[in-house]
Amino acid sequence: MAKQDLILLALDPAPILDLMDRALRAAGYEVARASDRSGLDKSVQEAIPALLIVGEKFSNSDGLSVSKDMLERFPTLPIILYTDKDSSDLAKAALKTGMSGYLYPPLKIDDIVDEVQKSLARGRRLGDWLRREVRRTTSSLAEKAQISEAERNKLEAIIANIQDGVMVIDQNQNILFVNHAIREIFNINEKEITGRSLIAVIPNEDLKALLVRSTEETLKHHEINFDDGRVFNAQYTLIPKIGAAVTMQDITHFKELDRIKSDFIHTISHDLRSPLTSILGYTELIERTGPLNENQTEFIQRLQGSIQHITTLVNDLLDLGRLEAGFDTGREIVNLESILNYSLDMFDAQIKKKNLQITKSITLEAKSIRANPTRIRQMMDNLIGNAIKYTPNEGVVRVSISIQEDQIIFKVEDNGPGILPNEQSHIFEKFYRATNVPEGVQGSGLGLAIVKSIVDSHHGRVWVESGNGKGSSFIVILPTEE
Ligand code: ADP
Repeated sequence: MAKQDLILLALDPAPILDLMDRALRAAGYEVARASDRSGLDKSVQEAIPALLIVGEKFSNSDGLSVSKDMLERFPTLPIILYTDKDSSDLAKAALKTGMSGYLYPPLKIDDIVDEVQKSLARGRRLGDWLRREVRRTTSSLAEKAQISEAERNKLEAIIANIQDGVMVIDQNQNILFVNHAIREIFNINEKEITGRSLIAVIPNEDLKALLVRSTEETLKHHEINFDDGRVFNAQYTLIPKIGAAVTMQDITHFKELDRIKSDFIHTISHDLRSPLTSILGYTELIERTGPLNENQTEFIQRLQGSIQHITTLVNDLLDLGRLEAGFDTGREIVNLESILNYSLDMFDAQIKKKNLQITKSITLEAKSIRANPTRIRQMMDNLIGNAIKYTPNEGVVRVSISIQEDQIIFKVEDNGPGILPNEQSHIFEKFYRATNVPEGVQGSGLGLAIVKSIVDSHHGRVWVESGNGKGSSFIVILPTEE
């Protein structure tokens, strides 16, 4: 026999309670009674009734609020409200609360059983619907999980087979994932490396340096060199809540091309120097061979100006070649203040001609440093020369040398045309001239490349802070102890 439905009665003792009890038992239901609030709670929890009938007043409580409380905890439990007197307000309130039935006198046995049956049927429908919904949602979740698993596998397969090296590390620099290319690049044969320290598995000095520098905001690219001549460009990308990814591309071929190009430029510049010196010499001799007319003198002067220009360019190229090849290793104690004074003296005529206002400030302790004096002079000449060259007449140029935590800060500020933000990262490249260059201002685009090479060879940093029409500040940082 099927288990009987249990009907729980929460009504104060009265003839109606006995009538309901009898009527429901006669109709084949099991009946239980709750005499107070705590008894009701216990019975609902433990006996799990199929339906509850609550009196409008029950054990000093309001039947509506008891029902509301029950429905909050057991939303599918059908509840019928019994009241001594029919009132449309009470019926409305019962409906609003979510009760499923409403009984009031005069009551016949059939009325009670009818209402209980209807409420039970409605409750069952609700239960069935809920079960169906839960099943549907669960299967759609499982489907979604399956799709995302497939997507994940696809993504993993792509990253695993991509030609660039990809490695992902956690916040403690332990390996989470490396792809096939990384294994080949570093010749990793061990199978299980997940969870191990990246540096322990790949003890490469350049990679170590990349991880040390990873906190620097400006770090975008880093070269990783191998003894066999291969060079890779590594990029470090932070992944929030996971750690970081390092991707690597093989740039050996481009490096080789760059070297061939530099060698070619170096050879050409070297070979050009002697004929240039001889051309300049002969133009000077022409002047001595006899009196020249006005036109001839002017043409000779223009010729000499152009030869000077090409000679400067050739010298710059040769310098750059020497710096890039790392030949400038000589270091001595250099007095920064006197170098700065020499440099400013050299530009004195141009400063006066453009009527520029120059200010100079030097912190006492920042006067000397171990460096290559010729190169430091060259760096100052280029930065100060640019400020003077690009700043319009009556402009202001400020030069300062200060010290901060073992670092010398050399700064050249001007109120000239400034440099557009998208061009700032290029101005240190060879031959690059930005678009804001005022008409007629000559240049080769090599000065800042030389500055950058000098600063790099002294293990320092150089950058520009500028904006269109906002002037430019070039900042060089040199360590006092290399
Ligand atoms: P150039 O021989 O053209 O001066 P540099 O390498 O010294 O070459 O400078 C590269 C470019 O950077 C310049 O052509 C110019 O566009 C820009 N630049 C450098 N210094 C300044 C400055 N102080 N103010 C504005 N632009 C500058």
